[in-house]
Amino acid sequence: MFGLVGKSLSHSISPLIHSSLGDPNYRVWETQDIESFIKTQDFSGLNVTIPYKETIIPYLDELDGIAKTIQSVNTVIKRDGKLIGYNTDYYGLFKTIQYHKISIKNKKVLIIGNGGASKTVALLMKNMNAQKIQIICRNPKKETEAPLTDIALLYDSNVIINTTPIGMYPHNNDELIFTLSNFNALETVLDLIYNPLRTKLMIEAESNGAKAYNGLYMLVMQAKASRELFLNDSNIDHSLPKKIYDNLNKTRHNLVFVGLPLCGKSAYAKMVAPIYQKPIIDTDTLIEMLENQPISDIFKDKGEPYFRQLENKVVTDLYQSNHIIISTGGGMIQDSDIMNKLKQNGIIIYLDKDYHQIMEKDIRNRPLINSKEDVERIALARIPLYEKYADILIKVDRPKNEVLSEIEAMLSDYFSR
Ligand code: NAP
Repeated sequence: MFGLVGKSLSHSISPLIHSSLGDPNYRVWETQDIESFIKTQDFSGLNVTIPYKETIIPYLDELDGIAKTIQSVNTVIKRDGKLIGYNTDYYGLFKTIQYHKISIKNKKVLIIGNGGASKTVALLMKNMNAQKIQIICRNPKKETEAPLTDIALLYDSNVIINTTPIGMYPHNNDELIFTLSNFNALETVLDLIYNPLRTKLMIEAESNGAKAYNGLYMLVMQAKASRELFLNDSNIDHSLPKKIYDNLNKTRHNLVFVGLPLCGKSAYAKMVAPIYQKPIIDTDTLIEMLENQPISDIFKDKGEPYFRQLENKVVTDLYQSNHIIISTGGGMIQDSDIMNKLKQNGIIIYLDKDYHQIMEKDIRNRPLINSKEDVERIALARIPLYEKYADILIKVDRPKNEVLSEIEAMLSDYFSR
C-alpha cells in the first residue's frame, strides 16, 4: 500500500497523479503525530509532505544520497524491513527547469524561504552552476541567509524561486513580501506552488515582463520518480508524466471569456463547454439570479457602483475554483482586483471583435450603452485593457467554426507550456 502522509491534505492532487501513474489505491494519511503514524501504520511506500519532510528522518533507517545531503525526505520505501528515505523533489525540480528551459548557468538566483524545499532548490542551483545563490527569508538561521530588509541588495537577481507557501490556496491573496518592480534584470520566476496555477507572485512577474512558471510539472515529476522507487522499476512509460501534466492543466484551468458587449462571450462559452467538459458560469446571469432583477434594473435602481461591487463579490466567490468556464460582464476588465483574481486559475481569452460591427447591432436595453457613440467610447476605454490581460487573443470577425478551431489550438499550446 502506497500513499501520502502530511498534516493537512484535503486538497492534495497526489492521489489523482498516482492514479494516472497506475495506482488507483494510492492513499492519503493525515496525521498530527508522525512518530506514532510511522510506528503503527502499515505501508509499503510513502510520500511525505508539509510539515514532516525533516521530522520523519529520525524514524528512518537509511537516507539516500540527496536526501542525506539536504536532510529532507519526500519519499520513503520499506525494503527488507528497513525504511529508506529519498528526495525526489530534487529530480522533479531539475526536470521542471529543463522542461521550461529556465536558464540557470551563470545567473543570479534568489530563493525565497529557508525551509525544506529551499535546500533542494539551493543544491540544484549550485549543481547547475548558478553564478550566485542568495536565500532571503523572514527568519535567517545561517550567514548565507539574508533578512527581508536586505531585499534592495538583491535587485540584480535574474531568477527568483519561491519556496514559501505565500499565496497558496486558500490564502491566494496573501500580500507579497516584496514587489518585483525594482528587479531590473529579472528573467524568470518559478513558484513551487501549483494551487492556484498562477500565484500573485507569478502575475506580478508577468506584468513586469518576466516569464513565470508554477510547481505543477515538479509535482508530477517527483511523483513519477517516487512511483519508480515504490515499484523498484525505472521503466515507467516516459511519455506518461507529460500526458498527466497536460491533462491536469486542461482540467484544472478555468476558461475566462472577456470582450466587448455582443462580441460572443456567451455563445463561445457554450461552444467550448462540451469540448472541455466544464460547466459555464455567466457572471451577469448569476448576478441577476442573486438580485432577482435584470441587470438594466439593477443599474437603474441601485446604480453602477453597486453593480460593480456585486461583480467583485461574485468573482471573489468563484476564482479559487477549478475547471469552470466563466463568461464575464464586459466591464469587469476595468477592475484590476477582479482581473488579477480571475487570472489565478483562469486563462483569459479575449474575443476581439471590431467595435464598428457592434455599433450596427441592436444595442437597446444595455446599461451604459444607448448609442453608437457609447459603443465607441466604451470600446476605446476597454480594448487596451482586454489586450493587457489576455492570455489568448482571438479575432472573431470570421466564421464561428474557424474561431473555435483556433481557440482549441491555442488552448492546447497553453496547456502544454
Ligand atoms: P517548509 O519547510 O515549511 O518551509 C516553508 C518556508 O516558507 C520557511 O522558510 C518559512 O519560514 C517560509 N514561510 C512560510 N510562511 C511565510 C510567510 N508568511 N512569510 C515569509 N516566509 C514564510 O515547507 P517546504 O516543504 O519547504 O515547502 C514550501 C512550499 O513549496 C510549499 O508551498 C510547498 O507546497 C511547495 N513545494 C512544492 C513542491 C512541488 O512539487 N511543486 C515540492 C515541494 C514543496 P519560517 O521558517 O520563518 O516559518
